[in-house]
Amino acid sequence: KINTRCDLMLFGALGDLAQRKLFPALYQLERANLLAEGSRVLAIARSDADNETVRQQLFDKLKQYVKPEEFDAGLAESFLKRVDYQILDFNEPDAFGVLNEWRDDANNELIVYMATPPSMYGVIARNLRAASCCTEKTRVVVEKPIGHDLESSKVINDELGEVYNENQLFRIDHYLGKETVQNLIALRFANNLFASQWDQNHISHVEITVAESVGIEGRWGYFDKAGQIRDMIQNHLLQLLCLIAMDPPSDLSADSIRDEKVKVLKALKRITPDMMDSYVVRGQYTAGTSNGRPVPGYLEEEGANKGSATETFVALKAEIDNWRWSGVPFYIRTGKRLPEKLSQIIIHFKPAPHYIFDPDQKHLANNKLIIRLQPDEGMALKILTKDQGLDKGMRLRQGPLELTFSETFVTDRIPDAYERLLWEVMKGNQYLFVRRDEVEYAWRWVDQVIRNWKDGGEPPKRYAAGTWGPVASIAMITRDGRSWYEDV
Ligand code: NAP
Repeated sequence: KINTRCDLMLFGALGDLAQRKLFPALYQLERANLLAEGSRVLAIARSDADNETVRQQLFDKLKQYVKPEEFDAGLAESFLKRVDYQILDFNEPDAFGVLNEWRDDANNELIVYMATPPSMYGVIARNLRAASCCTEKTRVVVEKPIGHDLESSKVINDELGEVYNENQLFRIDHYLGKETVQNLIALRFANNLFASQWDQNHISHVEITVAESVGIEGRWGYFDKAGQIRDMIQNHLLQLLCLIAMDPPSDLSADSIRDEKVKVLKALKRITPDMMDSYVVRGQYTAGTSNGRPVPGYLEEEGANKGSATETFVALKAEIDNWRWSGVPFYIRTGKRLPEKLSQIIIHFKPAPHYIFDPDQKHLANNKLIIRLQPDEGMALKILTKDQGLDKGMRLRQGPLELTFSETFVTDRIPDAYERLLWEVMKGNQYLFVRRDEVEYAWRWVDQVIRNWKDGGEPPKRYAAGTWGPVASIAMITRDGRSWYEDV
């Protein structure tokens, strides 16, 4: 039995991520009886407050962010007894000594969670080392973004690497904590039906859409420095692509899986300047509507710099130069202020080699596997059957074999990504965390697209809030004789 008893030092404990996601996730682990007896949390931030005030604040936030039917005041109070508060300025090396006073004896594993700006990771790591506050067994969790390009990510990784070994580092990409994302592994490698069809012989193309209906949500300054390609594609969408495209790992160990993901990232075809027009579309939203109400454009949001050329939408065609995927484009798109919040992957299978039905229906003749990450996590396999009725002859009809998790497995609660991720850290399992070389190969590929944008000097294409992005993104896929999937 794995010992999951731990001391968790949470740096940035009063920040948005900690309050909205991490404490509710810890509360859920308590609720599921997964927090070992004796496990404790040290909430670390610089606000002047005492234990009781912070516990009360955390209680209120739990009440706000945990679903009412899952919130139990008594349980929240007993969970919060595990939490102590420590005032600390991360830039004060001498102050770190105080953390040793809180540390238990060697009984508890130490987990350090840096829910802070990434510029603080190296500072905190060095100060912890100087205070002799970690060992070779300490596990360290860091959040994205790891840098804003390859060079800056290397600096952060080097700073962390100076103090910790790679097997101590847990880089979060919260998409990897989502149940349906992990289900990609189960779907592909537990079902030989799919495993044997998963290549260029049987698949014509793949679509990945991660659409947000929200805009900038008061984070204009942060977002404008990043843009959609850094914020979403470098991490979440490339991780999804890797899980779909990777070869079967020899086992479920962290390095077996991550080795295979890295091979995919290395095989991504470079998008050269002459390919940009046909392979990449970037967009920026203008005023429009969202859920029926008028919303401002990106340049009219609060705090906006009116001249910004930052993209809020990207569509691109990725190609993987290897045996399995040669000739199979992966169409990826992600954006803000799109018509709905939707994350889905569509695997388009090739049609049968010889078609014998109504020629007018030939466009229907390929199976599609739809993997929905949100909303309504589940999968549907679109298959062709005969249309019913005496007058229909052998007309075809496409219908789904449908698996909606919430309907089929009614009693299961789908845990939030952070619950799963924290639990895996406690177990010391790195398979849902991103290794250094994954981060760096992903940056290498994304950097060249950004460089081409800069060199090309063209502004992003406009799209009205509430639409599916610039028309150029539709033209990009239409040129290849395909269209973005619409569930009609
Ligand atoms: P945040 O709200 O700004 O929280 C950061 C916390 O760190 C704040 O409580 C801040 O304290 C504290 N801090 C910063 N410098 C400090 C110092 N020198 N000494 C002591 N405390 C210091 O940021 P966040 O949104 O929670 O994000 C945390 C990390 O998660 C970032 O790396 C972010 O990119 C990543 N992330 C966040 C989200 C999200 O949904 N929020 C999603 C994905 C990734 P003060 O309040 O006193 O400044």
